[in-house]
Amino acid sequence: MTAPNGISARYEGAVLIDGTGDDPIPGSVLIVDGGGTITYAGAADAAPPQDATPVVDLSGLTLLPGFFDCHVHFGLGGDMMSSLRNMAAPPSLRSFETAHRMRETLHAGITTARDLGGIDAGYRQAQQRGLLEGPRLRVAGRMLGPTGGHSDFTLPDGSCPDPGLGSVVDTPEQARRESRTLLRDGADWLKVCATGGMSTPSDDPEDVGLDEETIRIVVGEAADRRRDGVAAHSQGTVGIHNALRAGVTSLEHGYGLDRQGSELMLRNGTVLVPTLSAALRMPERGTVPDYLWQKKHRWADRCRSNIAEAVAAGVPVVLGTDSGIGPHANNLEELRHLVDVGLSPLEAIKAGTGDSARVLGLRDQVGTLSAGMLADFVVTDVDPLRDIAELADPAAVVLVAQAGEIRKNTLGSRAASVS
Ligand SMILES: [Zn+2]
Repeated sequence: MTAPNGISARYEGAVLIDGTGDDPIPGSVLIVDGGGTITYAGAADAAPPQDATPVVDLSGLTLLPGFFDCHVHFGLGGDMMSSLRNMAAPPSLRSFETAHRMRETLHAGITTARDLGGIDAGYRQAQQRGLLEGPRLRVAGRMLGPTGGHSDFTLPDGSCPDPGLGSVVDTPEQARRESRTLLRDGADWLKVCATGGMSTPSDDPEDVGLDEETIRIVVGEAADRRRDGVAAHSQGTVGIHNALRAGVTSLEHGYGLDRQGSELMLRNGTVLVPTLSAALRMPERGTVPDYLWQKKHRWADRCRSNIAEAVAAGVPVVLGTDSGIGPHANNLEELRHLVDVGLSPLEAIKAGTGDSARVLGLRDQVGTLSAGMLADFVVTDVDPLRDIAELADPAAVVLVAQAGEIRKNTLGSRAASVS
C-alpha cells in the first residue's frame, strides 16, 4: 500500500480525465481528505499549496474516475459449465464465488456496478458495511417475465434450475405483487423482460415478453416507492417499443433498435445499455449449444449497425457488459466496443463514468472527479486516449480507490515515491 488509508493524500503528476467529457489535464493534482472526499482535482498551478499530506507520484500515468458496469450478474459464473456447477453447489459456496467475482471486478477498475439479476440486497449491504470488497452495488434481485419467457427457467419435465434469476408473472396483478415483493426485499431497480433472449433455449430475441400494460405497472411500482427505476431486457424491435412506451429507465441490449425506437428514447430520456461485449463475443462452434451459436451469428452484425445508428442519432449510451453471461473482470473491454460504434475514447470514458453515475442516481457522489465527490478513482499505466482497448486488461489498472481507500495497488517500485 503506498497511499495511507483513512488519512488524507495528494496524488500528483497524472494526466487527469475527470469523467465529464472535458479535456484531459496533464500534470494534475488530486487531493483526498481523511474522510475519503476529494477536496481538489485539477491543474497543478491552481492547486492548494502542499502541506504535510503524503504525496503519491503518478507522473506518466492516467487518473480516471472509478468505472461503472451498469449490467452485471455477479451470481453467474460466465459460461455454461459454471452454470451447471452452480446448480450442484451449496448456497454458501455460491456466495463465496459471488464475492470473489465482485473483488476481481473491482480490481479490473469497476468501483460501482448494477446487478440485474441473480443476487439479493445482502451483497449491497455487505459491501457497504465493509464485509465484502467489491463495487458499490445497485441490485434488481430477480427479473420479471412471462411463462415461457426470458425469466422462466422451467424445463419440460417441470424442474426449474433457476439460479435466483427469474420471476414468472403473466398478468398485471402478478407483476404488481412481485414488484412489491422485490422492493420489500431491498431491490433498488426492477427488471422486466420485454423480449426473449439469446442464452435461453425456449425463446428468441424477437419474441415479445411482458406487454406494455404490464411493464407500465412495474414502472409505476418502482416510482411509487422512489426506487432508481426499471431496466428492460429488450432485444427484438416490437418488445423494445413496448418497453419504451411503458416508460422504462434503461433499455438493456437494444439490438433490434430502429429509428422509431431511437426517437422514443430521445423523447423519453431513456438510456441504452448496449452490452456489446456480450453481443459481439462469438463463441466457437461446438463450445455452446447450437441454438445459441445460431442466434448469436444471426444477430451480431445487425446489432452492431443498429447500435451505431442509435449512437449517431444521439441516443445516450452507458457501460454495461452482461458479465456473468460472459466472463467477469474484463468489463472495460466494453469501452473498445463503444468506440467501435461511434463514440470517441473520451466519450466512451464519460459513458462508463459520469453518465453511468447519472443513470444509477449517484452523480452527486461518484462518477466524476471534482471537489466534494467521493474519491472513487483508478490509475492506469496505459494511455486510454491513444488505445482504449488496452484498458480491457485488468493488469493495466494499477491502482483502484473507493472513497479514498486503496483497494488495489500494483504501482510497485513507485511505492518508494510516497513521502
Ligand atoms: Zn443480463
